[in-house]
Amino acid sequence: MDLFVGAHVSMAGGLHNAIINAVGIGATALALFTRNQRRWQHEPLTGKEIELFVQACLQYGFNSAQILPHDSYLINLGHPDIDGLTRSRQAFSEEMQRCSQLGLTLLNFHPGSHLRKISIDTSLRRISDSINLALEATPGVAAVIENTAGQGSNLGYSFEQLAQIIHYVEDKSRVGICLDTCHLFAAGYDLRTTAACEHTFKQFDEVVGLHFLKGMHLNDSKGSMGSRLDRHESLGQGDIGNSCFEYIVKQPWSRGIPLILETIRPELWTEEIAQLRRWAT
Ligand SMILES: [Zn+2]
Ligand SMILES: [Zn+2]
Repeated sequence: MDLFVGAHVSMAGGLHNAIINAVGIGATALALFTRNQRRWQHEPLTGKEIELFVQACLQYGFNSAQILPHDSYLINLGHPDIDGLTRSRQAFSEEMQRCSQLGLTLLNFHPGSHLRKISIDTSLRRISDSINLALEATPGVAAVIENTAGQGSNLGYSFEQLAQIIHYVEDKSRVGICLDTCHLFAAGYDLRTTAACEHTFKQFDEVVGLHFLKGMHLNDSKGSMGSRLDRHESLGQGDIGNSCFEYIVKQPWSRGIPLILETIRPELWTEEIAQLRRWAT
């Protein structure tokens, strides 16, 4: 299967520009926001926007397996308060629908936070229920849970928590995981050597299952192992180091899923993508 590698690119000036930006850095995968990620309010997609996006995908040879949209940072599907939970569920369903309108099949999101008002288990269960509601409302789009660094009261920092969320999702065919290497490392999973990577991904396979892996975020980490700091770094320039990224692109399970850079120097993306491709062959 093909190696799909790219970055989280800008969609300024129109969603179709994300495709053009991806092509410009030699990417065969991309991530994007389908709306302003820091605001609740947004306009519905117009027919013209959808057409331009679909056209750009066709023109440059991108299909939905290569595109991993990211949801708004405001959404908290494990929210302790009913108002906050309702608003988040509504916004998440709208994001799922936008994906569906654009012909996309994956939506990457951060699971949620208990905000120190409810227990971890209660919040995790709310996240599963939120996913169930969203999947029911929108056929054809899978909910892709991103592991977190565990900063603040954010959940989804351990494989056990990710497995627990999936456990209560009814349609297992439309739920998956996006592993972010910076978040993994910050949460305490060692990735600094090939042996450490083998151990960490074996653990993921045993607790969650590699068949749930639907995407990855490839980021080095400014913070040390277990620091719980969500601070991305360019590949090879942080505390994780290059051997992790070389290891990942050599694994059969990293083929056919979007591998997305969220590294902090966009001017390095072209070279980072080229390097990942060299390691893969
Ligand atoms: Zn994310
Ligand atoms: Zn990420």
